[in-house]
Amino acid sequence: MSTIVLPSYDEVVERYEPVIGLETHVELGTNTKMFCGCPTDFGGEPNTRVCPVCLGLPGTLPVANRAAIEATIRIGLALNCSIAGWCRFARKNYFYPDMPKNFQISQYDEPLCVDGFLDVEVVGESGETELVRIGIERVHLEEDTGKTLHVGGATGRIHGATESLVDYNRAGIPLVEIVTKPVPGTGALAPAVARAYVTELRDVLRSLGVSDVRMEEGSLRCDVNTSLSPVGATEWGTRTETKNVNSLRSVERAVRSEMLRQAAVLYGGGHIIQETRHFQEDTGDTRPGRSKETATDYRYFPEPDLVPLAPDPAWVAELKAGLPELPRDHRRRLQEQWGLSDLDMQSVLNAGAVELIERTVAAGATPAAARKWWLGELSRRANETGVELAAVGATPEQVAALQRLVDEGKLNDKLARVVLEGVVAGEGDPAEVMAARGLEVVSDTGALTAAVDEAIAANPAIADKIRDGKVAAAGALVGAVMKSTRGQADAKAVRELILARLGVTG
Ligand code: ADP
Ligand code: MG
Ligand code: ZN
Repeated sequence: MSTIVLPSYDEVVERYEPVIGLETHVELGTNTKMFCGCPTDFGGEPNTRVCPVCLGLPGTLPVANRAAIEATIRIGLALNCSIAGWCRFARKNYFYPDMPKNFQISQYDEPLCVDGFLDVEVVGESGETELVRIGIERVHLEEDTGKTLHVGGATGRIHGATESLVDYNRAGIPLVEIVTKPVPGTGALAPAVARAYVTELRDVLRSLGVSDVRMEEGSLRCDVNTSLSPVGATEWGTRTETKNVNSLRSVERAVRSEMLRQAAVLYGGGHIIQETRHFQEDTGDTRPGRSKETATDYRYFPEPDLVPLAPDPAWVAELKAGLPELPRDHRRRLQEQWGLSDLDMQSVLNAGAVELIERTVAAGATPAAARKWWLGELSRRANETGVELAAVGATPEQVAALQRLVDEGKLNDKLARVVLEGVVAGEGDPAEVMAARGLEVVSDTGALTAAVDEAIAANPAIADKIRDGKVAAAGALVGAVMKSTRGQADAKAVRELILARLGVTG
């Protein structure tokens, strides 16, 4: 009997070249649906945001949503695409209970935006930032389907369920599909590149204000295509398409686990079948789903109920001129303003602290102070408690207020950390925590002088040394004063006062 030894990740990337491709669906944040006037807000009672058009009742006619077309063009422009001067919607025919018309209005061979790119940054094996240009095949507009709920079973899956219910609130919500070209040549970095791409795309979409891009609520969904071919081969391998990838971390894990799985199949002399697979959040691996339909199964044809789309070039030019600063440019501008090296900026990015620091600076802190708190105390705290930095419990405004108290001499560094603990624990703004806990630096000279005199009286030998000119010995007295004031004195002021009381100059 022979044992099959599964290849390690390093072996996989030594022997095979991974190619990835990402299909991302984003629900647009328009007020109304794609082809009717129903509202699009998330979380309503099932089947309360529906009308004859999005329920696909006979005799209804769709009318395209101008705001959705505008948002799609803006996405295309932000992704460096060409915008079609003329294009059409297409019918994609298939039966599924969550799609009441029995077809989905989509775009097929005439998408609105084609042939663009998005540059993403990943940290390479050497620790250097590498730029990877991801080609964008097309950006098209379609309508979302409803949602099927399988109830009565333990898992919420169809197996074991006693009945299935359909909620059509989501049916007809404008959905943009963004498809990349195949991305070869990333080697061991393929999983990181996939994640970096979805992250960057999410940030671009957010900066455009076209969607709330929430992966956990499904307004941003991603299918991950992966294939392997032997290094040096002239043709790419057969791809699988992994669905159900609901977080950025899962994007990365899905590519990696598919690379390992495919390599194991290839090692064993098998071949990869083109299929849809489902990512398993708990185990991090993928399971087979349905085998893949081909385009002919869908019997695409131009949608006869809608007029073609022919965006006026002047309108497109206006939309282009109105694009906001895109995330990468924004980051580069901040890096320059904050005076950070690539490496320092990378650690800010990794900590997820860019926006927090930006807002802290806007609230009055210096970039250095803002970075210190967010990457120091607060990052440590977020790691310990396993929450996102933004949810750690302190706001940028509070961090700026804390630093202001330090700058005003009301808090020293040590006390500021204690105050921050109180802020994170929900005890209020820094000034409130400081007052409630009695943490303000003792600046009342009378009280401080008394504490200094006490320390001198208690340590006559040390006091004599200082009088004899051994100024360095003052440290011990400073320590005694800090102790008697529970750390609430300004050490520098204490030192000066000690020297003054002993009649020596520092
Ligand atoms: P489908 O509708 O069948 O999913 P699409 O054209 O919408 O096809 O998307 C296919 C995705 O798979 C694209 O992102 C494309 O770049 C990617 N892709 C194509 N060939 C390969 C391959 N050999 N390996 C990995 N990804 C691939
Ligand atoms: Mg697809
Ligand atoms: Zn409707």
